[in-house]
Amino acid sequence: MKLIINEKELVHKALTEGFIHQKTSKTITCLIKYYYSLGMNRQQAREAIEQFMHEHYPHFNSVKWQDTLDRWVKSIEKQEHSLLEIKEVVITRKELEYIRSLNSLVHEKLAFVYLLYSKIFNRMNGNDSYWVNTPRSDIFKDAKVTANSVKQGLLVNDLITIGAIEPTLNTKKLSKRVLFANDQDDAGITVRDFRNFIYFYLEWRGEKIMSCSSCGLLLRQTSNRKKYCGECSKAKQKEWQRKSMKKRREHELVK
Ligand SMILES: [Zn+2]
Repeated sequence: MKLIINEKELVHKALTEGFIHQKTSKTITCLIKYYYSLGMNRQQAREAIEQFMHEHYPHFNSVKWQDTLDRWVKSIEKQEHSLLEIKEVVITRKELEYIRSLNSLVHEKLAFVYLLYSKIFNRMNGNDSYWVNTPRSDIFKDAKVTANSVKQGLLVNDLITIGAIEPTLNTKKLSKRVLFANDQDDAGITVRDFRNFIYFYLEWRGEKIMSCSSCGLLLRQTSNRKKYCGECSKAKQKEWQRKSMKKRREHELVK
């Protein structure tokens, strides 16, 4: 998922590791929010962000950045200063039943992702409107549905035709609104890990899903011997090679 749903974590990583997310503006604006939340005034927040940039932004050019930073510090001063922290999203049983009733895996997956995004956007915007404002390609990526642009358009159109989502009247925007949300019901799936989150749905639907024994990433259980995700499995292999090499060397020394 490309959306940043945990601004607190982003700020924490920036302050402790000097980490700047590839969406640089997001890191900076979150930091400014954080400085204000500490009770700093505009001048103090401006100095603090200047300091951070000097320390962590590669080849920081104070003059080039001056206007942008001034503008952000000024506009954020008037805004809400609490940082977004979404740890879980609940999909209810009624919502799952609706999705399953579409009876087509591709459409079900897309509907599930649209619904999850709509709940995240509700939290970001502080409302219950279920509008999703993200590029279509992000939805398809998270749904793990491969389709070219034409096919994507057709599939989204299907969801509109059956009344699962509706488009905005503003043709310049890509927003879609989810129409089948039903929060007033028992939890069916609670998503707490947003990597590969479509697998929560596939598991609910009966597919064999497992989690990596090392990092917890959800994966398809393609064999009973599979224990790790690709990355962890590579890391484990390297570790094993290192250890066996060391053993061999020690053995040779004894001889
Ligand atoms: Zn892993």
